[in-house]
Amino acid sequence: MSVEEFKTRREEIPELISETDLSPSEIANIIRVTEKTVIEDLKHIAKSKKYGRLLILPARCRNCGYTFKPEIKVPKRCPICKSMWIEEPRFKIEKI
Ligand SMILES: [Zn+2]
Repeated sequence: MSVEEFKTRREEIPELISETDLSPSEIANIIRVTEKTVIEDLKHIAKSKKYGRLLILPARCRNCGYTFKPEIKVPKRCPICKSMWIEEPRFKIEKI
């Protein structure tokens, strides 16, 4: 992948999530990259000031309702009930 394509993709994510909140797998499906790449890009977007503020709607355990800390990652297992039925975190850009 060239440097130009790379730049374009990182610009695309903030645009997608400025309208509506999306989960990493939803973003990955739309722009056709892996979820891991989306997570890396979101971390970059969170650090950069130019896109606006990155809001994190935290992941949640669908089994016991435990709410995870708002972090840029997708937890695999609930620390309380050990369930792997986890609702992904969602991300949105708030324009400053
Ligand atoms: Zn749980």
